Amino acid sequence: ETQREAVLDALDNVAERLAEEKEYLTDLDSAIGDADHGANMERGFGKAADKREEFAEMEPNEVVKNVGTTLISNVGGASGPLYGGSIMFASQELEGGITAETSVAFAEAYLDKVKDRGGAQVGAKTMVDALVPAVHTYKKSIEQDDLPPLEALAKAVDAAERGVAFTVPIKALKGRASFLDWRSVGHQDPGATSTLFILEELLETAE
Ligand code: ADP
Ligand code: MG
Ligand code: MG
Repeated sequence: ETQREAVLDALDNVAERLAEEKEYLTDLDSAIGDADHGANMERGFGKAADKREEFAEMEPNEVVKNVGTTLISNVGGASGPLYGGSIMFASQELEGGITAETSVAFAEAYLDKVKDRGGAQVGAKTMVDALVPAVHTYKKSIEQDDLPPLEALAKAVDAAERGVAFTVPIKALKGRASFLDWRSVGHQDPGATSTLFILEELLETAE
């Protein structure tokens, strides 16, 4: 299987999973937001997955870049530019192909861009709470512990899961949920949750 096919399969799996989780993500967003996160994610990744034919001739990094631009033009809200812009930016790191090394660079560039654009640090009850532990765990597993990418990704998924749980008891400091102040406490963040679902599907595809 070529890298391009692996990327396209991952995209299909992510789109399918987000469609399955549409209602769940919408429920999470209805508690502390405007009840559109499920629809936003389903629409964005659905449109990207629909471009499979168009992507068939592209290099893996170009496919990833185009997924980003598709999300930017179809998701909207806070999550569209965060997901789309960051995927687009980070795709540069995959120009030489997808290896353990370039995947770490991609993950770090993606996280940096999300933090840069959104201005959220860990503890603001956003997708950053899932991403920071996931990206740090992935990088450490590969660079320090010498684990193969698949095992590193499995550890990153576990870390993201803990990050999602961590969003429940804390108060939102960024995004719509922050308008609720203390009333956001006790609810799981939708964007951290969709981030976890995406990582789970990347792992599932790689397995
Ligand atoms: P909107 O809030 O515009 O309706 P979505 O519902 O699609 O957009 O996405 C909401 C998610 O976006 C939140 O759950 C949170 O994880 C993420 N988010 C919102 N603002 C920020 C931010 N400044 N930095 C990082 N993530 C953010
Ligand atoms: Mg919303
Ligand atoms: Mg919205």
